[in-house]
Amino acid sequence: MTTEDGGALRHTFAKILRLERQGGFRNRAVAGGMDAFLQRWRADLQPILDASVSYADMDDAQRRRWVGEALAIVGDAAPETAASSRAAPNPKPIAAAANATQTAAPAKPAPNSPARKSTLTKPARKRAAPRPPANATPLRLDDDVSRLSSVSARVKPRLNRLGIQTVQDLIYHFPHRHDDFTKIRSISELAPGEMQTTIATLWEISETSGRGRSKSAQAVVGDDTGNIRVIWFNQGYLAKTLKPGARLVISGAPKLYLGRLAFQSPEYEIFEGWDNAARLAPVYPLTDGLYQRTLRRCVKEALDRALARMRDYLPSDMLRAHDLLPLKEAVSRMHYPDSADDAEAARRRLAFDELLMLQLSVARRRVEWQSSGGAVPLQSDDGRLDGFLDTLPYALTDAQRRSLTEILADMRRDIPMSRLLQGDVGSGKTVVATAALLTAALNGCQAALMAPTEILAEQHFLTVTAMLSDGSQSPSSDTYVSAQLPSLDKPLVVGLLTGSLPKRAKDEIHRRVAAAEVDILIGTQALIQSAVDIPNLALVVVDEQHRFGVMQRSTLRRKGAPPHMLAMSATPIPRSLALTLCGDLDLSSIDELPPGRREIRTRWVDPEQRAATYGFIRKQIEEGRQAFVICPLVEESEAIQARAATEEYERLSKAVFPDLRLGLLHGRMRFSEKEEAMRRFQDGELHILVSTPVIEVGIDVPNASVMLIDGADRFGLAQLHQFRGRVGRGAHQSHCLLLADAPGQDARERLKIMERVSDGFRLAEEDLRIRGPGDYLGTRQSGLLDFKVARITDQDILLLARKEARRLLADDPELTRDENAGVAARLAAYTAGLSAEMS
Ligand code: ADP
Ligand code: MG
Repeated sequence: MTTEDGGALRHTFAKILRLERQGGFRNRAVAGGMDAFLQRWRADLQPILDASVSYADMDDAQRRRWVGEALAIVGDAAPETAASSRAAPNPKPIAAAANATQTAAPAKPAPNSPARKSTLTKPARKRAAPRPPANATPLRLDDDVSRLSSVSARVKPRLNRLGIQTVQDLIYHFPHRHDDFTKIRSISELAPGEMQTTIATLWEISETSGRGRSKSAQAVVGDDTGNIRVIWFNQGYLAKTLKPGARLVISGAPKLYLGRLAFQSPEYEIFEGWDNAARLAPVYPLTDGLYQRTLRRCVKEALDRALARMRDYLPSDMLRAHDLLPLKEAVSRMHYPDSADDAEAARRRLAFDELLMLQLSVARRRVEWQSSGGAVPLQSDDGRLDGFLDTLPYALTDAQRRSLTEILADMRRDIPMSRLLQGDVGSGKTVVATAALLTAALNGCQAALMAPTEILAEQHFLTVTAMLSDGSQSPSSDTYVSAQLPSLDKPLVVGLLTGSLPKRAKDEIHRRVAAAEVDILIGTQALIQSAVDIPNLALVVVDEQHRFGVMQRSTLRRKGAPPHMLAMSATPIPRSLALTLCGDLDLSSIDELPPGRREIRTRWVDPEQRAATYGFIRKQIEEGRQAFVICPLVEESEAIQARAATEEYERLSKAVFPDLRLGLLHGRMRFSEKEEAMRRFQDGELHILVSTPVIEVGIDVPNASVMLIDGADRFGLAQLHQFRGRVGRGAHQSHCLLLADAPGQDARERLKIMERVSDGFRLAEEDLRIRGPGDYLGTRQSGLLDFKVARITDQDILLLARKEARRLLADDPELTRDENAGVAARLAAYTAGLSAEMS
């Protein structure tokens, strides 16, 4: 993201323009339309280009031309055109209001600022912060990095590879750690397993004589206190580039190797004397061919020549109130802190920036949703819902009851509900959702349940209809609409809508839904959102909604009132993350499992134990149990996946279990075939169900006690946990077997965690630790959690950002006040960044 130096808005605007071009000039690139954007930023854009046009009124050709021209003005390709803000006839700084909060001498914090206070409490030290060299001309933040004298033609493409284009990108390329030169250890002081830095002389270095193309380099380095071996794997060339006698700074965690300590592929650089008097030297993320010292020099020059240009967009009273460092100071200290505390104070300010943007966007979404009109209040206290709950073969757990109460209370209001119901696999979310769906139907309204996959939609259809019909009737695959509910006065109609239905059936469903003849519509998310007009829609339940960033609520809005919305997730989210991601959702958690569940025994088995594993499955089946076999994930394509599963099914049927009855399940089968396979497995006619990963969610067969996951190394923890959740639903001891052929480092760690941890919430925490939140929730692509400095453990900063976001919007919902102009510009860039990455 860029700052409000004018670069931010131009950058955002260029992004929007490019998006618009990609999208075929349909005026979709920016929420609310291009004209609204132009209007909003007119004062700032006017000096750059004519922002008083009406994009909406242009035809395609005019739009194409206008976008092209605008891009030529603000796009990266022409940062220095005559129309740029610097050379504009009447230069007017963009986001001028942000400047108002700046003092005249931008390099120094105001005398009473908290930052100043805190540095004064420490013993005065030589500041390592960069000071502009006298002869260097200042640069703009959006200048290309090539304008820095330290960036040569050879270095530039390497910086680009790190995503660094502008001077500002370089300034925001933060070190991932610092080397503390006051804590250099001598070789005799080195301890195994800890990150340490030592300075030593290179005595000898040679290329290993191993086979294969990638050779390693091995070396001996030493100081007055001793010698230590160093090996750089796959970097044989170092034997040529590093010369004996060189002094090296080596950082890494030495390990015991053949009884002695050795560094393995440590970071290193030539020791060039004490760097800039910095006690803590920044260590940056690198890319091939880019040296630490080169990058240090580039960043340093960028700071020296451009940091003074950076404007703080946060109001200074906010900074003061929360003891946050001013932006410039925070950025400078991220690179060159005086102490670890100093670095943390800097990180805290910048993490606050990131979390504030996230919280603002999320809080605004909530306000928009809730003010989008009155929802239909749905009553639930006439006893009919209780009548339904009484027909269940079990009593709800306390957690289910609590969640349902929260949901029903929301639905009674005319503010549209936006709630997330989360609970571990098997915690019983479906029945709670069914009660909500039923409530809507009993109020004479329509409700929809949307699932991410066809199989899950079909399974929901079967489960929900079975529950609502007291189990006395089961829907059949050739009537996609079933009408039944003996315990109630009026029959309800439940419909299924998935892509694999014949066209005739789909048309029929569409017609009946539009005529309000279907009370509860169950189907895949894409289909329900795109195709159907649901006239009396009052409630939408979205299952397995963990792609929060992609949630398109606007498409749920029908002509009338906005529906209540309930999202369900079996991907347990630690509360901190839930707050981060779903600041716009209220949260209900089912945090206990129904009584009588046994812990599933999970084992990671070697490929050599494959035969023994099959033997184990056979034994379980002889004891009357059933088993799932999940095929390795072969490719994204469902067709190839289906073929692989079919082959595996045939192999197991012929060569391994010729005497047992096996079934096959994959995404390419027709609904009736899938339903048949599932029904036969459920009824115990099949011993083993061989399946592609489509079975991940929702399938419920209490007699199944073995889950064999072949190729377990290819799945993530959340997914493995979902598979495992298919067993352990009955009274029998259940087992989850993880077969992995050649697990890499990360996979091994996942498999070990699976063996050890059965609780979904703890698993989620572990997963976050290994992979980071973006991967875990599939939000990486959405850019939602692409934090540079914020961490998922920054709970206090998160809560602060949330509070400030809400306060800002409560005082100034559209962020139109002068003192909020900087925040507004930054938010616009952030939001545009998100939608650009999502497109
Ligand atoms: P999930 O939360 O994973 O969607 P389900 O709704 O599929 O869980 O429920 C898992 C199983 O637990 C189902 O077989 C369901 O019938 C059963 N179940 C749900 N609630 C209870 C309860 N309160 N007591 C006993 N069994 C329950
Ligand atoms: Mg479920």
